[in-house]
Amino acid sequence: MRRILIVGAGQSGLHLALGLLRHGYDVTVVSNRTPEDIAGGRVMSSQAMFGTALAHERALGLDLWGDACPPIEGIQFTVPGPDGGRAIDWAARLRAPARSVDQRLKMPAWLAEVERLGGKIIIHDVTPADLETYAAQYDLVLVAAGKGPIASLFERDPARSPYDAPQRALALTYVTGLAPRPDYSAVCFNLVPGVGEYFVFPALTVTGPCQIMVFEGIPGGPMDCWADVRTPAEHLARSRWILDTFLPWEAERCAGVELTDELGVLAGRFAPTVRRPVAALPSGAAVLGVADVVVLNDPITGQGSNNAAKCAASYLDSILERGEEPYDAAWMERTFERYWADASHATAWTNALLAPPPPHVLELLGAAGGLPEVASRFVNGFDDPRDFAEWFMDPAGARAYLDRFGG
Ligand SMILES: Cc1cc2nc3c(=O)[nH]c(=O)nc-3n(C[C@H](O)[C@H](O)[C@H](O)COP(=O)(O)OP(=O)(O)OC[C@H]3O[C@@H](n4cnc5c(N)ncnc54)[C@H](O)[C@@H]3O)c2cc1C
Repeated sequence: MRRILIVGAGQSGLHLALGLLRHGYDVTVVSNRTPEDIAGGRVMSSQAMFGTALAHERALGLDLWGDACPPIEGIQFTVPGPDGGRAIDWAARLRAPARSVDQRLKMPAWLAEVERLGGKIIIHDVTPADLETYAAQYDLVLVAAGKGPIASLFERDPARSPYDAPQRALALTYVTGLAPRPDYSAVCFNLVPGVGEYFVFPALTVTGPCQIMVFEGIPGGPMDCWADVRTPAEHLARSRWILDTFLPWEAERCAGVELTDELGVLAGRFAPTVRRPVAALPSGAAVLGVADVVVLNDPITGQGSNNAAKCAASYLDSILERGEEPYDAAWMERTFERYWADASHATAWTNALLAPPPPHVLELLGAAGGLPEVASRFVNGFDDPRDFAEWFMDPAGARAYLDRFGG
């Protein structure tokens, strides 16, 4: 039985661990947080996941919240105009509903599932020296430590990382009492030119159903406003201030909001970074990076958890296909490139949305208001960003696509 060790008990590490356990591998997960630490800790994400990623989870029986978690049925896209009204405002349905289950609920339940299936769990904050020990003991060591400092063992890939600084000041506010949008549930995505983005959608958290507010402030701008916030109550007040100031229609929905819990708030920032997939340890042993360790995108497009699930599914296939052959560095590189063939589209699209929109993007997003097919294609691209390459990411492709509708 092949022995595999995974560092990190997050979206990708536990998904991959559970997939390997179901195929009879000997799996050890090392987590720097106990299930109780995670369940009683701070929110780390807004973790909205679309149809393809959810299907990967479902295939392994990992969807434990299908009924309890409110569905996200579509995406609404709004841009305020100079007069304070809505210059662009349209919505379209997702072909399959998205869902967001708070990682504070999901990861402890998945850790319990790892134990139930015979996996081993070690609670320890892994150091580079530990990786040497593990590499000598296990057939394969995978590092799925998210944004943890150990990711810096993997060298930044400048050719695949156009940014070397954070592109948004991020904040999360988990609330109850937010008025639902009419018709169908959706991610309400608001883009305030020169200021940043705000999106809000239903989710399931430790206290039950909620809505998650996500703020993406352009650094140095008015939505980059969290540095002096000291308490959860101040965080909620600052969230309201942003909506009152820039998005009055979203503020109207918030008359009755309260925080879900004192730890349902987060503020921070990081630079989007793609890293080399293989880290060579001083002994020469190689370890393979997983998900955010190697492809860390800004959350503006909500792709990180989706990519983590897609990465786990892709690596699982590569490991199964490897059979009894050694997991050498060349195999690790190929394993990553197979995943990157998909993830590169999410990364390119996400990085594009962090920049001021070029004319063809403004034209597409404006046209979508009168062309439901264009709106639907944009909305469903969140599930599979590969589709954006030929039209959204390419001015000539955008022109050819819009011409199909007569101009
Ligand atoms: C503000 C914000 C909003 C987001 N919203 C969305 C969204 O709507 N949709 C979406 O798809 N994605 C979203 N994401 C991204 C998503 O949460 C991540 O991409 C995803 O969780 C990455 O999974 P992972 O397995 O790589 O890492 P994680 O889920 O972060 O797991 C890493 C785990 O490793 C552990 N660890 C770290 N270092 C060590 C160590 N040395 N030893 C042992 N354990 C260690 C950590 O404690 C953690 O449990 C958002 C992120 C942020 C910051």
